[in-house]
Amino acid sequence: MNVLLIGSGGREHALAWKLAQSPRLSKLFAAPGNPGIAQQAECVALDVTDHAAVAAFCKENSVELVVVGPEAPLVAGLANGLREKGIAVFGPSASAARLEGSKGFTKDFCSRFDIPTAAYERFSQLDAALSYLRERGVPIVIKADGLAAGKGVTVATTVEEAQAALRDCLREPGAEVVIEDFLEGEEASLFCLCDGTRAMPFGTAQDHKRVGEGDTGPNTGGMGAYSPAPVMDAATLERAMREIIEPTMAGMREIGAPFSGVLFAGLMITAKGPELIEYNVRFGDPECQTLMMRLDDDLLPLLLASARGDLGEAEPKWKDDAALVVVMAAEGYPGEPKKGTAIDGVEAAEATGATVFHAGTALRDGTLVATGGRVLGVTATGTSVTEAKANAYAAVDRIDWPEGFCRRDIGWRAVEREMA
Ligand code: ATP
Repeated sequence: MNVLLIGSGGREHALAWKLAQSPRLSKLFAAPGNPGIAQQAECVALDVTDHAAVAAFCKENSVELVVVGPEAPLVAGLANGLREKGIAVFGPSASAARLEGSKGFTKDFCSRFDIPTAAYERFSQLDAALSYLRERGVPIVIKADGLAAGKGVTVATTVEEAQAALRDCLREPGAEVVIEDFLEGEEASLFCLCDGTRAMPFGTAQDHKRVGEGDTGPNTGGMGAYSPAPVMDAATLERAMREIIEPTMAGMREIGAPFSGVLFAGLMITAKGPELIEYNVRFGDPECQTLMMRLDDDLLPLLLASARGDLGEAEPKWKDDAALVVVMAAEGYPGEPKKGTAIDGVEAAEATGATVFHAGTALRDGTLVATGGRVLGVTATGTSVTEAKANAYAAVDRIDWPEGFCRRDIGWRAVEREMA
């Protein structure tokens, strides 16, 4: 079967690497791909905002399945456009992708279907927002929505900080914020493959969002991750499926937006149990790299079954090993990353048994160079997170890239747990 993979990051390299192992794969195309993905796929230049052009490419190249890596094309309705032309797509429709695209939608959905999440209110008027803040106090969480969405999330520990965030978010007319209670606990990510009806658990992970060691400094796309998440024991997983994921699947069907693709739940494991922080409608990057290393099964039929709406009773097999990914980023990230610097030692790193997934790389005259913020994902397995971490850093140390950096403490929470 011919498959087209959309995307160019480390997540997509991990998906390409795993898809390429499938005996059912004839040919893999990637749009646009990257030099790592080019080892497994033919990289093609396609304008993914032009749904008709993507569909025409699929017809010309006998592509039977399109796997969409990032959220933007899903929110923009690429899956709808391709399905209308009879092409199977792994990924949700635009209306189901609102679970990621609109925080307000998701909060209202949770309240309608009784899904545990932080208590919240939505505001578009500053006065009303400030008075709600006075009522709730701090700590409190301010999330930009709608036209303010670029402003992100502020976890405010002082009233002044919360007021400043509200003023900032509501400056533009038409902007909206969600103000929600602070949830205390440990965060974990739960991934499910969904077919519109069934959600099949597809691994857990924890990531490190902050750029600095000890989880300090500005937020990034993710500086590392490991799987499985030790905090997601069998009982917590069972509760998360029963109280959060399954009501979501049923609710999405009820509102006429059945969910298929990956449902990625960002959870807070509180003293009361798991609560939903946010949904994403695609794999996490870099969490996906760890899931693909642990999956002991053929990925292609699973994605195809999800796309066709017939996961049936499928249960994927996993290795017992833990996996850990260390992201190597270019100096300056998450601000202005330094571009064009040469990277050496990827083969030497892989000779240790690790796998190096490419994100922001390019080949220039035969030299691998950095082209983005997050550049490489050095991923290894081990019988514990501690061992996977040691293996990943042994490979990191073989990479010769003076202008790159990484955190040295990825997995610290799980390692502490394993030592206890
Ligand atoms: P991203 O998709 O990059 O994770 P986002 O902008 O979609 O971020 P959220 O995931 O909703 O925003 O929040 C970002 C982070 O803020 C969470 O990972 C969590 O650490 C923290 N956070 C969000 N909501 C809460 C909450 N109610 N209580 C405590 N912490 C929270």
